[in-house]
Amino acid sequence: MADVETTLRGPDAYKIARRAVDLMERHQVWPTALNFELWTHYVADPEGALARELTRLIAMGEPMTELVCEELAATYLPKARLNEQIRDAGDLLSKELESVSKAIQNAQKSNTAFGKHLAGVSKELSTPGDVDAIKAVVSNLADATRRVHKENQSLEKRLADSTAEVDRLREHLEQVRRDATTDGLTNLANRKAFDEELDRACAEADEAGSSICLAVLDIDHFKGFNDTWGHQTGDQVIRYVASVIGRVAAMPRFAARYGGEEFAMIFPRESSAIVAATLEEIRVEVSSRMLKRRSTNEDLGTITISSGFAERRPKESGHSVMERADTALYASKRSGRNKVSCADGKPESANAA
Ligand code: GH3
Ligand code: MG
Ligand code: MG
Repeated sequence: MADVETTLRGPDAYKIARRAVDLMERHQVWPTALNFELWTHYVADPEGALARELTRLIAMGEPMTELVCEELAATYLPKARLNEQIRDAGDLLSKELESVSKAIQNAQKSNTAFGKHLAGVSKELSTPGDVDAIKAVVSNLADATRRVHKENQSLEKRLADSTAEVDRLREHLEQVRRDATTDGLTNLANRKAFDEELDRACAEADEAGSSICLAVLDIDHFKGFNDTWGHQTGDQVIRYVASVIGRVAAMPRFAARYGGEEFAMIFPRESSAIVAATLEEIRVEVSSRMLKRRSTNEDLGTITISSGFAERRPKESGHSVMERADTALYASKRSGRNKVSCADGKPESANAA
């Protein structure tokens, strides 16, 4: 699927989109967002599982109803599959819990029965009887004890199995959650994860009365780079920049791919001076690296990035700090790019050259 995603952002992107629209019209499928996604995948990856299934359905004369399309999407499109997986894991978890609760109920029942049995026995023993009667009572008791013991053993086994199953499901859900919050191209956090982390970090800072700085970083003149070298090479550059940013973003710092060629960072409890120095370090490292195209070893020259950052004011919303960091980024762009700017301040650095 990763290949399809790349193709859909490659040089043939618009051709693929037009062909998808033509095919939808020919097969009398409404051009909804979902269908568009299905048919662009069909065109981009004609040998893939989705295309094969669509071809089969068309050959059978199956009408492309909304339901059919939704099922295709659920089975073959990555995002829909994610939701499905979460739902499946949730279903399995409830089944597991239901069966555990039944096992506990059964064990409770036998324990109650055992209690009643004991009460009955003690009544029998309180009236004097002969030795045979006592023997019978004791043997009865031994049977009942064995039954309860067995029941408890099977409950223990059931609970152990179930704990293992719940652990497995938890791990699976954790993986699904990681996938949903990770950017596929760079492996940095995605924008959704960033927004969540920002809310969390702001709440934490409010509680502790501590500071946060936010930074926005953007590759300069990237449209031109893509036009010259193609989107796939552009994607490699995005991955490279992400790797530089990722290296200086150890916890408690947080870095994300915020948009196409734009990144964002959170710096909890760090001074503006340190943040400026870190962004400067990233700027210098990126701008001094001679880039080479992997496949052909061609020289791609160098690229630069601009950034802006802002320090959060007490109680300020994360959104508002981002806006100020963005304004600082814009100041870096306006004053010549390859720069780091602080919100409400002058550019912090300029290309030495
Ligand atoms: P500026 O210095 O003002 O930031 O100029 P720019 O060209 O970088 O900015 P602009 O916003 O005009 O264009 C951004 C370009 O980034 C458009 C697109 O070609 C490219 N881009 C965005 N996302 C991706 C991506 O995922 N992969 C690739 N290869 N290119 C992307
Ligand atoms: Mg840019
Ligand atoms: Mg941009």
